[in-house]
Amino acid sequence: MSSCFNGLYCINLELTSRCNKNCWMCGRRKIDREYPEIAMNYGDMDLELVKKIAKQLPEGIVVQFHNNGEPLLYPRFGEAIRLFKDQIKCVDTNAKS
Ligand code: SF4
Repeated sequence: MSSCFNGLYCINLELTSRCNKNCWMCGRRKIDREYPEIAMNYGDMDLELVKKIAKQLPEGIVVQFHNNGEPLLYPRFGEAIRLFKDQIKCVDTNAKS
Protein backbone atom coordinates (compact mmCIF):
# COMPACT_ATOMS: atom_id res chain seq x y z
CA MET A 1 0.00 0.00 0.00
CA SER A 2 1.34 3.40 -0.94
CA SER A 3 1.77 5.91 1.87
CA CYS A 4 0.16 8.56 -0.31
CA PHE A 5 -3.18 6.94 0.56
CA ASN A 6 -2.84 7.43 4.30
CA GLY A 7 -6.16 8.72 5.58
CA LEU A 8 -8.06 7.96 2.39
CA TYR A 9 -11.51 6.74 3.32
CA CYS A 10 -13.62 6.94 0.19
CA ILE A 11 -13.50 7.68 -3.52
CA ASN A 12 -16.20 8.28 -6.10
CA LEU A 13 -15.60 6.53 -9.37
CA GLU A 14 -17.94 7.73 -12.07
CA LEU A 15 -18.01 4.76 -14.43
CA THR A 16 -20.29 6.67 -16.72
CA SER A 17 -21.56 10.21 -16.81
CA ARG A 18 -24.54 9.13 -18.88
CA CYS A 19 -28.01 9.04 -17.34
CA ASN A 20 -31.35 7.73 -18.60
CA LYS A 21 -33.57 10.01 -16.54
CA ASN A 22 -34.44 13.65 -16.78
CA CYS A 23 -35.18 14.73 -13.21
CA TRP A 24 -36.49 18.27 -12.80
CA MET A 25 -34.00 19.08 -10.04
CA CYS A 26 -30.94 17.72 -11.82
CA GLY A 27 -28.14 20.25 -11.93
CA ARG A 28 -26.59 18.72 -15.02
CA ARG A 29 -29.88 18.92 -16.92
CA LYS A 30 -30.14 22.59 -16.01
CA ILE A 31 -26.69 23.21 -17.42
CA ASP A 32 -27.61 21.28 -20.57
CA ARG A 33 -30.72 23.45 -21.05
CA GLU A 34 -29.52 26.85 -19.95
CA TYR A 35 -25.77 26.81 -20.51
CA PRO A 36 -25.14 24.45 -23.42
CA GLU A 37 -21.82 26.10 -24.13
CA ILE A 38 -20.38 24.62 -20.93
CA ALA A 39 -22.33 21.35 -20.95
CA MET A 40 -20.16 18.29 -20.79
CA ASN A 41 -19.91 15.45 -23.24
CA TYR A 42 -21.29 12.39 -21.47
CA GLY A 43 -19.54 9.07 -21.80
CA ASP A 44 -18.05 6.00 -20.14
CA MET A 45 -14.74 5.43 -18.42
CA ASP A 46 -12.23 3.28 -20.24
CA LEU A 47 -12.17 -0.09 -18.41
CA GLU A 48 -8.37 -0.09 -18.65
CA LEU A 49 -8.33 3.08 -16.58
CA VAL A 50 -10.69 1.46 -14.04
CA LYS A 51 -8.25 -1.47 -13.81
CA LYS A 52 -5.32 0.87 -13.16
CA ILE A 53 -7.22 2.65 -10.40
CA ALA A 54 -8.30 -0.65 -8.82
CA LYS A 55 -4.69 -1.82 -8.56
CA GLN A 56 -3.66 1.32 -6.72
CA LEU A 57 -6.36 1.53 -4.06
CA PRO A 58 -5.78 0.23 -0.54
CA GLU A 59 -8.08 -2.45 0.79
CA GLY A 60 -10.93 -1.50 3.04
CA ILE A 61 -11.75 1.91 1.64
CA VAL A 62 -15.18 2.71 0.26
CA VAL A 63 -15.55 2.95 -3.51
CA GLN A 64 -18.75 4.65 -4.62
CA PHE A 65 -19.57 3.88 -8.23
CA HIS A 66 -21.59 6.96 -8.91
CA ASN A 67 -21.39 10.69 -8.99
CA ASN A 68 -23.53 12.33 -11.62
CA GLY A 69 -24.17 9.39 -13.92
CA GLU A 70 -26.24 6.21 -13.70
CA PRO A 71 -23.69 3.46 -12.99
CA LEU A 72 -25.87 0.61 -14.24
CA LEU A 73 -25.62 2.06 -17.74
CA TYR A 74 -21.92 1.24 -17.76
CA PRO A 75 -21.65 -1.57 -20.33
CA ARG A 76 -19.04 -3.50 -18.29
CA PHE A 77 -20.44 -2.78 -14.83
CA GLY A 78 -20.04 -6.37 -13.54
CA GLU A 79 -16.43 -6.56 -14.65
CA ALA A 80 -15.69 -3.18 -13.14
CA ILE A 81 -17.03 -3.83 -9.65
CA ARG A 82 -15.35 -7.24 -9.47
CA LEU A 83 -12.00 -5.46 -9.80
CA PHE A 84 -12.50 -3.98 -6.33
CA LYS A 85 -12.65 -7.20 -4.32
CA ASP A 86 -10.72 -5.75 -1.37
CA GLN A 87 -12.73 -2.55 -1.09
CA ILE A 88 -16.20 -1.76 0.22
CA LYS A 89 -18.46 -1.13 -2.74
CA CYS A 90 -21.38 1.28 -2.82
CA VAL A 91 -23.73 1.99 -5.71
CA ASP A 92 -26.56 4.47 -5.99
CA THR A 93 -28.93 3.97 -8.89
CA ASN A 94 -31.91 5.85 -10.26
CA ALA A 95 -33.59 2.42 -10.63
CA LYS A 96 -34.76 3.11 -14.16
CA SER A 97 -34.39 -0.01 -16.26
S1 SF4 B 1 -31.01 10.37 -11.99
FE1 SF4 B 1 -29.55 11.86 -11.16
S2 SF4 B 1 -28.16 12.36 -12.85
FE2 SF4 B 1 -29.97 11.37 -13.71
S3 SF4 B 1 -31.33 13.05 -14.29
FE3 SF4 B 1 -31.92 12.41 -12.25
S4 SF4 B 1 -30.75 13.70 -10.85
FE4 SF4 B 1 -29.83 13.87 -12.86
